[in-house]
Amino acid sequence: MKSLGHWIGGKHTDGASGRTSPVTDPATGERTAELALASREEVDQAVAAAAEAGAEWERSSLATRTQVMFRYRELLDRSRDELAKLITAEHGKVHSDALGEVARGIEVVEFACGIPQLLKGAASHDVSTGVDVRELRQPLGVVAGVTPFNFPAMVPLWMFPIAIACGNSFVLKPSEKDPSAAMRVAELMAEAGLPPGVLNVVNGDKVAVDRLLEHPDVAAVSFVGSTPIARYVYETGTRAGKRVQALAGAKNHMVVLPDADLDGAADAAVSAGYGSAGERCMAISVVVAVGGVGDELVAKIAERARALRIGPGGDPASDMGPLITAEHRDRVAGYLPQAREQGAEVVLDGSENGPGGDGHGGGAANGYFLGVSLLDRVTPEMAAYADEIFGPVLSVVRAETYADAMELVNGSPWGNGAAVFTSDGAAARRFEREVRAGMVGVNVPIPVPVAYHSFGGWKASLFGDSHIYGTDGVHFYTRGKVVTSRWGRPRGLDLAFPTSE
Ligand code: NAD
Repeated sequence: MKSLGHWIGGKHTDGASGRTSPVTDPATGERTAELALASREEVDQAVAAAAEAGAEWERSSLATRTQVMFRYRELLDRSRDELAKLITAEHGKVHSDALGEVARGIEVVEFACGIPQLLKGAASHDVSTGVDVRELRQPLGVVAGVTPFNFPAMVPLWMFPIAIACGNSFVLKPSEKDPSAAMRVAELMAEAGLPPGVLNVVNGDKVAVDRLLEHPDVAAVSFVGSTPIARYVYETGTRAGKRVQALAGAKNHMVVLPDADLDGAADAAVSAGYGSAGERCMAISVVVAVGGVGDELVAKIAERARALRIGPGGDPASDMGPLITAEHRDRVAGYLPQAREQGAEVVLDGSENGPGGDGHGGGAANGYFLGVSLLDRVTPEMAAYADEIFGPVLSVVRAETYADAMELVNGSPWGNGAAVFTSDGAAARRFEREVRAGMVGVNVPIPVPVAYHSFGGWKASLFGDSHIYGTDGVHFYTRGKVVTSRWGRPRGLDLAFPTSE
């Protein structure tokens, strides 16, 4: 069995803490690797390597940084298939979905290739006679990233390419559940010519995260994960004086108005509800059927959902793979009897239609599979509505009017994504204006912004004030400096507060 350690100062190191965690293939349940969990001392070594290499990297020319990014982009492009296979082997998502994740990560690197334009700053000449002002943005120093299991390559790529292009050095702590893709994208940075120590990977758990949050040499932390941990990371990191952005959980609503194309809406609900087994922070988990569309819409969703093939992510015939762990599968499955008891109509029960149920994905008996579930007539009091399930369970809530639907969506504690399906431009415009969420889709169920627009939610979906990647990313990983300079005629002795003349 493989042993996975850390990547510190450009070298692989074995774990020294004596603590490990198993990595499994969710499609088979087999243990494929033993992952080292870093001690505080190992985190300190990674931060020290980053600080040392960062002192030099901060002074590297923009041309050097750009060249590394362009080479990195080429290496990632050539490694798409390899990375997607690593993702599928530890996360379980189907290959096409894993390729999509890699593509969206590469987009961020392409954005980072334009870093000279993004760091250009501003200048004003002759703000006063003989006085000029220049605005610069400078890197922070050592920054850390802590990432979730559900996008093992893409979420790290949301962070370190921009941080490093801005002149920072980086310590990444990937999810302990599927660490190999993150390690590979880090190795490729070295192949692209990034000096050793500018990017480091420490594998680990709470011990490593806590050390990063308190370490005096870590200037900023980017976090993506569940809401309770995001809140903890934000509060702990900011208390220690760090800049923190903590992207968190979600419960995304898709509002279907009576004038929507119902076939299109049903396709969208099934794709966005069950894609990646619902383990996406931008997954649609609640469909709000407005007016009289509920019966027809539920029938169309059920028909499509029944046809999904559930099986190993590496099998091209599979539409949906397993869940990340057996515990998570059981937790998700637990919502079904509970929903039934609480009065929901269970149109599809995933514990009956997974592999071994209707026969899809046979031979995967020990994998962490669960079929797709569809719950109708769900109400806000039910646990299936109130919790982030993070699995292939789609709830349908019936709403009389647009206003009722909007009250429901805006009453949610989360505000990551929200979508409206309609053929009425004015209704879509009103929705876009009124909805309290950071990312809004109009006839688009998963409105993940492209890399040159930033990604982030509202309310309990993001702690901090900056979204991730795009220009918000550049802003987060740099701090402003304004230089006022006078050349030529000195001002002379004058104790009054300086004014322009
Ligand atoms: P998680 O919060 O369990 O873990 C995220 C990271 O935090 C991991 O690296 C983990 O090792 C670390 N961690 C876990 N417990 C910790 C603790 N007690 N103290 C310190 N660190 C700890 O999340 P997950 O299960 O890996 O990912 C799924 C969650 O992430 C979902 O809630 C999903 O909505 C969310 N997510 C959000 C976004 C977004 O952009 N808003 C994107 C992807 C995932």
